[in-house]
Formats: sequence, structure tokens, C-alpha cells
Amino acid sequence: MRRVFLTLNAGSSSLKFAVFDSDNSSTTPLTKGTIAGIGGTPVFSARDTAGGALDAGAMTALDVASDHETVIALLLPWLANHFGGLPLLAVGHRVVHGGQHYRDPTLISPSVLQYLEALVPLAPLHQPHNIAAIRAVAKWRPDIPQIACFDTGFHRSQNHLAQLFALPRDLTDEGVIRYGFHGLSYDYIASILPNHLGDRASGRVIVAHLGNGSSMCAMKDRKSVATTMGFTALDGLMMGRRCGALDPGVVLYLMQAKGMAAPDIETLLYKHSGLLGVSGMTNDMQVLQDSDNPHAQEAIALFCYRAASSLAGLLPAIGGLDALVFTAGIGENSAPIRKAICDHLGWLGITLDDAANDRNATRISAAHSQVGVFALPTNEETVVADACRGLLTRAGKPE
Ligand code: ADP
Repeated sequence: MRRVFLTLNAGSSSLKFAVFDSDNSSTTPLTKGTIAGIGGTPVFSARDTAGGALDAGAMTALDVASDHETVIALLLPWLANHFGGLPLLAVGHRVVHGGQHYRDPTLISPSVLQYLEALVPLAPLHQPHNIAAIRAVAKWRPDIPQIACFDTGFHRSQNHLAQLFALPRDLTDEGVIRYGFHGLSYDYIASILPNHLGDRASGRVIVAHLGNGSSMCAMKDRKSVATTMGFTALDGLMMGRRCGALDPGVVLYLMQAKGMAAPDIETLLYKHSGLLGVSGMTNDMQVLQDSDNPHAQEAIALFCYRAASSLAGLLPAIGGLDALVFTAGIGENSAPIRKAICDHLGWLGITLDDAANDRNATRISAAHSQVGVFALPTNEETVVADACRGLLTRAGKPE
């Protein structure tokens, strides 16, 4: 009988969901949707396979008081309504942190959940929402297997040195290491590299995931060798609201000279910095691009300069560069940002084909460019759905 998988990706203010047919390995979901603006004015949207908008129905009950649990409590019956005839086989979750213990997709049990809860301080903006989603599903349908797919997992292939901070050894032993994130996105891009790069797919590739959260991953043989995010998803590139790499002395200054407490510093670094902080306007790159405000332009210039600097910092790990791939909201859609980053990297042998870049083509480098440059859409949901299929098959619960 035909059954379905549900994938949930609970972000800080959004919930993305997709429903996949368990009978085929198609990457096209039966439906895909987003509830954006959770904690403010939630906006629901869902589309079917053909791209047609689906009726919001009971989802119009969402309001300013809706938190992630309320949203999921409304969404699950909405989905059951739309897919009433198709039994739900499993729910797969994108979970930001798997710590040192979890690398591969994992069937969630009470002890797994307890471990994931202990990791909340390492990803305070994301992990609580991932856990809320798991709990809401368990409350609704305790019989449904739930599977966690970790954003940290893809980076566990890195060698020991790439994961170390120059901190006293006891802190390293305690787990204060570089974990890296956006692993599901990198996993997906790694899986499609051969389609676009041929033999070069197993060469030296840097993937730039540029969205609200941004990071880069240096790959060899399509495995993570180094990445810009570290112990938390705060490190590395400048982001929508996050500061990225920062002299830790600034944190000491905020505490000692300005008397700021940890929760206020956390809010400053995670929510009030990045594009929003520098522009003083918004974290939305598209809005900043359309603005002639000098602070907006400075925020964009800093974003691009720091992205190029971070890319250069990854090069020793892979010893050069064969290809650069842009992905996620900004990477897939913004020709000016790709151009500005590549303009900083001409010395590496990167030359764009401006016309191809402007029309968001898949290959955007010039024919004579030493480094191939690509813009490829990511698809984290597919990775989660595939993991559900694989894990259930191995566990002897296939469709
Ligand atoms: P998230 O990390 O929340 O999944 P996305 O990957 O969807 O984020 O990326 C969101 C970012 O992408 C926003 O800053 C948005 O402005 C930007 N973006 C989307 N489309 C464009 C575009 N055409 N030009 C510039 N920026 C864009």
C-alpha cells in the first residue's frame, strides 16, 4: 500500500514541511510548505506537486501567540486531512546538533531525546524548536517512528586537527570542539556534484551555503574536510542576524566594561548582529540589495568581503580549488552577491560568465576560468526523506 513520510525542519521562526511518497525515491514531494513568522505574524503556504497552492483551512487559526508546538499541533491534522488516505510511515526531522555521539540518521527514543536536550546550550536558537517538533509529533501519534537527521553529521569525516580549538585539553575532552552545521544541505549538494562536475566532483570543492544562516564547507572526495561554523552556528561567515567569527575579546569587553549578562550577549550576537546589525535595517538580503542606504551597502560589502576571506581560510585544508558552488536563498538567487564574492577571488583563478551569473544559470564561470563556479539549489528535505527510507528498510520496517 502507498504510504508517506513527513519531513519537518523547525527553524527559529519558521517551520518547513514536506510529504514524500514512500513508494518511490522521487525528490519531488507530494506537498511542500512553510509556516514563516512564528512568534510574530505567522504566514502559512503549501503547494502540491504541480506547484498549485493548497487551501490553508484550519491553519488560518495561527496568530501572534502561536509557538512551534501550537503550529505543529495545527499542522499535523491539516496534513492528515490532505493525505487522509495515505498512512504515515515515519516523520523525519532536521536536527541541528547531534553532538559527539550522533552522526548518522537515528531513530528517536527517550534516551536519544534526552541526549539531544542536553545539547540545547550549544544551539539555543534551533535545537529547542527541533525538540518541540519531535515532542509535538509524539503527543499526536506516539506510534509513529521519528528519525533525527543531524546538521553536524556530515562534518564528522573531518580529521582531528580540523575539529580542534587551541584551548586547554580538558575542554576539548569535554566536547568543546568544532562541530560544523548545515550538514544536510552539504550532503545533498555532495550527492549531486557528479551530475554537474563530472570527475571534478571528487576534487577540491568549496560549497557556500548562503541563507539566513551562512557557512562554507571545503570538500575532497565529496566529504567534509573543513567548515566555517564551529562549536555553535555563530562562528564563521557574517549572517542575517548572527555576527559570525568574532574576537572573543569583544565578549569579555561586553561583560566587563559594559556589564552585560550572558542572555543579553546571546541576543546581541545571535539576533541583533550580522546584516541586520550593520545595516540597522533588516536581515533580508533582497531588501538590502534594493536599498541605496549607505549602511545597507556597507552590510552587503562586509558580507561579501568576509565570505571571500573565509573561503580563502579553508584552502589550506584542501590544497587549492577546483570548483565553487553557491547554494541556499542568497547563493542560489543573488547574482550581485555571487559576483561581489568572486571579484575578491580573481587571484584564485575564478572568472565569472556575467551573463550566465545574471540569469542564475547552473554553471556561472567563464569557459576559461580555472575554477568552475556553480549555483545549485539545495534540498535538505530530500536528504531527510532518503534517510527515513534507508533507516526503516534497515530496521526491517520497509513499505
Ligand atoms: P534560511 O536559512 O532561513 O533557510 P534561505 O536559505 O531561505 O534562509 O535564505 C534567505 C535569504 O535569501 C534572505 O536574506 C533573502 O533575502 C535571500 N534571498 C532570497 N532570494 C533572493 C534574491 N533574489 N536576491 C537576494 N537575496 C535573496
